[in-house]
Amino acid sequence: MSNDSAGTAPKVKLTASALTEEEFAAVDAAMQSSKPWVEAGPDWICPCCARSKRAICRKSNKGRWTARIHRMLDYEPESNQESLLRRYPNASSQIIIGSHRHLLICQDCRNVPAEVKRRQPSLSGESLSISDLRDLVPKPVPHAAHGVDYQRAIEIGLAAMPLARAIEDYRDHCAVASRTELHFRLLMKLPSWSKQEAIDYLGFTIAKENDWDFDEGDAHAVWLIAEGARIRRLDALS
Ligand SMILES: [Zn+2]
Repeated sequence: MSNDSAGTAPKVKLTASALTEEEFAAVDAAMQSSKPWVEAGPDWICPCCARSKRAICRKSNKGRWTARIHRMLDYEPESNQESLLRRYPNASSQIIIGSHRHLLICQDCRNVPAEVKRRQPSLSGESLSISDLRDLVPKPVPHAAHGVDYQRAIEIGLAAMPLARAIEDYRDHCAVASRTELHFRLLMKLPSWSKQEAIDYLGFTIAKENDWDFDEGDAHAVWLIAEGARIRRLDALS
């Protein structure tokens, strides 16, 4: 006989909901002004604790039901060889992050990294990844805060310091790439500029800043423009 409690996915305890249909409808109506709530749609479940919109509703001391969904960024390592080569010289961590996606998580899950940061201010609010959070919230319960071992959460956060530095590097890279790509698009709007002239101009600036030869500056500009466009697409997707 299989033991179905042995799985790693969080299991939401099947208790009768303390929330009536009318009370949930009132929360849902009140939350229509919240972008993440609307974006999440009616069938959303928290990617971290696997609770539904209904199960994340919490009763205040005054007996009022409320709920909230937040955005969280999740990161993937870089796998593109050219990007790795171009980014390693500026990296402050062995980890190079290559992409991000927006996740929509519940208030109780969002509260875990916030509480970790409150208890250990040297950690960033992004010290825990989505898989860390899943690991730290093994027994989610409807309508209740998560029981989290914060000592362990802090240890995980401290061990993930190189990742926090990699996230900062990635942010810097996104900012430079986005700025370069925007500059390129603005130059391309000028009537007398060809694509090659715009690349030459940006490449020349980069070559001068880094003391590189012009061809290397141009190649770097082409790469940064492509990165800026890719990052813009990633943001548009989420
Ligand atoms: Zn959650």
